[in-house]
Amino acid sequence: MLKYVYDFFEGDRSRADLLGGKGANLAEMTRLGLPVPPGFTISTAACRAYLAQGAPPAGLFDEVNAHLREVEARLGRWLGDRHDPLLLAVRSGGRFSMPGMMETILDIGLNDATVGGLAAHSGDERFAWDSYRRLIQMFGRTVHGVPAEEFERELAAVRAAAGPGGPGAAALRDLVETYKKVYAHHVGHDFPQSPHEQLYLAIRSVFESWNADRAVLYRRREHIPDDLGTAVNVMAMVFGNLGPDSGTGVAFTRDPATGAPGVYGDYLPDAQGEDVVAGIRNTVGLPELERIDPVSFRRLTEIMRTLERHYRDLCDVEFTIERGKLWMLQTRVGKRTPAAAFVIAAQLVDEGLISADEALHRVSGGQLAQLMFPGFDLDAAPVPLATGVGASPGAAVGRVVFDSAAAAAATEPVILVRRETNPDDLPGMIAAQGVLTSRGGKTSHAAVVARGMGRTCVCGAEAVRIDPERGEFTVGDRVVRAGDVISIDGSTGRVYAGSVPVRPSPVARYLAGELSPEADPLVAAVHRLLGHADAVRRLGVRANADTPADARRARAFGAGGIGLCRTEHMFLGERRELVERLILADGPAERDAALAALLPLQRADFVGILAAMDGLPVTIRLIDPPLHEFLPPLHELTARVARAEALGEDPGRDGALLVAVRRMHEANPMLGLRGVRLGLVVPGLFAMQVRAVAEAAAQRRRDGGDPRPEIMVPLVGDVRELTAVRVEAEQVLAGVEGAPEIPIGTMIEVPRAALTAGEIAAEARFFSFGTNDLTQTAWAFSRDDVEGAFFGAYLERGIFPVSPFESIDTAGVGRLVRLAVAEGRAARPELTVGVCGEHGGDPDSVEFFAEVGLDYVSCSPYRIPIARLAAGRAAV
Ligand code: PEP
Ligand code: MG
Repeated sequence: MLKYVYDFFEGDRSRADLLGGKGANLAEMTRLGLPVPPGFTISTAACRAYLAQGAPPAGLFDEVNAHLREVEARLGRWLGDRHDPLLLAVRSGGRFSMPGMMETILDIGLNDATVGGLAAHSGDERFAWDSYRRLIQMFGRTVHGVPAEEFERELAAVRAAAGPGGPGAAALRDLVETYKKVYAHHVGHDFPQSPHEQLYLAIRSVFESWNADRAVLYRRREHIPDDLGTAVNVMAMVFGNLGPDSGTGVAFTRDPATGAPGVYGDYLPDAQGEDVVAGIRNTVGLPELERIDPVSFRRLTEIMRTLERHYRDLCDVEFTIERGKLWMLQTRVGKRTPAAAFVIAAQLVDEGLISADEALHRVSGGQLAQLMFPGFDLDAAPVPLATGVGASPGAAVGRVVFDSAAAAAATEPVILVRRETNPDDLPGMIAAQGVLTSRGGKTSHAAVVARGMGRTCVCGAEAVRIDPERGEFTVGDRVVRAGDVISIDGSTGRVYAGSVPVRPSPVARYLAGELSPEADPLVAAVHRLLGHADAVRRLGVRANADTPADARRARAFGAGGIGLCRTEHMFLGERRELVERLILADGPAERDAALAALLPLQRADFVGILAAMDGLPVTIRLIDPPLHEFLPPLHELTARVARAEALGEDPGRDGALLVAVRRMHEANPMLGLRGVRLGLVVPGLFAMQVRAVAEAAAQRRRDGGDPRPEIMVPLVGDVRELTAVRVEAEQVLAGVEGAPEIPIGTMIEVPRAALTAGEIAAEARFFSFGTNDLTQTAWAFSRDDVEGAFFGAYLERGIFPVSPFESIDTAGVGRLVRLAVAEGRAARPELTVGVCGEHGGDPDSVEFFAEVGLDYVSCSPYRIPIARLAAGRAAV
């Protein structure tokens, strides 16, 4: 028979696929001898089976009962025992952490009979009734979807009627009766009195919560597969709400916002764990725990040191102190901000816990990208309106909205302002620039979720009094209304009225060579890890740049040359008229005159770029887009000519232009007269560009430079196209005195080129994959139209997890790349192979290109550090 249930003694952290992250780590802590309440984990396989057949797999609950009996025997307490009942916590926990997205039910096992036993045994009747009402509420909401407000309303009434000490035992007992009525009214039958039935239903509802809307949305955003399922952890309850010597908290082994060393966390005396995570009451810092309960504090810090050394990484923990006894309820390798990721990775290398290679895998290109974002210009900032906890860094400016739906519907940048957030706020948090809450600490839901998705977040800004009904918040006598602009700083926790100017990030300044690596710990960590990436990577990183300024910026960011210099941008502005003359030329003489006028301008462009990239390769691509892009749009021109004719005027130049535009009009310009086709049908155009490259290089040499241009032909599909261009180009090159040897290569950006790469390589010194066009042509997706048209639906339906224009489709487009590399290199072993589509700056794609064995990736200047890091990660 299949085994679905594992005691905490049986698992370990390597089994997260089966036991989920939480279950695997509970097992690991149990193995380490840490104080974990006894329990067991129902595997993700059971969840998958349940979801597939809509019912628990055969024998599951028998297995649960057998494990439960072991827990009972170990504790000497029984579920349903009316004198000293064992109570259970049932918690979800998938392979990947999805904070707050799935369900937890506490206090399973309470009923009309056992509540008395709990009261007697704990000596606290009030606590027993409060636990019972919590169970009915959580169970009702989770298992049967009873709206939380239904219970909250009754609770609020009882709290309001009670004195300052809160409701007493009798009031809570009455509240339980009211809750039971609310439950029966919504559910259609009474609250189940059988503890075992409670347990089975709780397990089923945790399975089902895998497919809750918010969980599905979270997974889509985080690219977590939908078919993993969640494990269910069943654990003996321990209570943090048994008086002042009890409490519950969350802690990190280092500061998850900055990476600064030292245990960091929040503690809430006399409370249950869910109260901390929900951010419902304001917590105290851990140093306060040292004062309240020094013995538990010392034990906790000891355990955290053990965990960090064991996991060799930042860990976070949830713990509960029950009447002075510390219990560990959860640990995991903790989420952290991008800044903390870099700082911690460098620290762990220093502490000898991880190697420099391993450190590269503790950070990602995506995190580095976030660190390059600007922050607020503090010199220009006004006095803050309020200060909360800087929970997730960044500088966000936007209009205030008070609910998630408004944030999701907004067309302008917004800041979502809430007392606290809950998992239903996820769509709003995704849509907003930033999140501001008035309650909760760094471990509240808002903080954890915002950090996970790189959203700026300030929480616990207590001075902010929010009144969603009136659509405003106040700080003292200042009133901020929905729609007003505020700025929030997720690093310092400051909240400003109005829009504060932003300034470049220190990391971006360091990368641009404007700041020394010693500037601060973060910059030092980035310097160190990027340095190591550069030392180990085999993949070159070049830039897509077509101005001297971009080339200089790219070089400062560490580019090893230019992989794509698009020349079409050089024909815009004032030069457009010269191109018009070329297109409209009546005979070779007019055409040659137009080309002769363009030549010196183009040469000057190349001189500037070659100078900026002196000593490094510069791949110059011959003109690519359809020529009519340089002419006025057809409808505009038609209207102008019609107007002139209606007025009896001579349309002049417009008349001839209109004829040309009509002649050149294409239904599918992307598949029309562009790239190499243009060079073959417009005599002299490519030759002029090749001459400009050669003459520019010759001039640079005369000026003492070391120019290394390469000429690249776009959109080749057949080797004969390339041969024709190469022969003509070589004739031109042979006629330019003083030019260096200039290799001629091709882009591979249509499937036929990839499929005939062996033939093409015989004529090409290098290949550069144009994965933008290759994706467009392999999928038949118009790259200019699809994003708005149907990609949303495709992403929603999971047809692909991410746009294939953003991250390379390894199975399809990637296969073409692989094939072309193999056949190209077989035909010409010294063939240089790179990529210059947008994918060259996407960390996941870079990993693929490294694996395929490309020589370099080329990307926009700002992505260069990201590509360097990704290339380093791919090498170790
Ligand atoms: C490409 O197609 O990937 C490419 C780099 O060329 P462009 O984006 O200019 O078409
Ligand atoms: Mg292209």
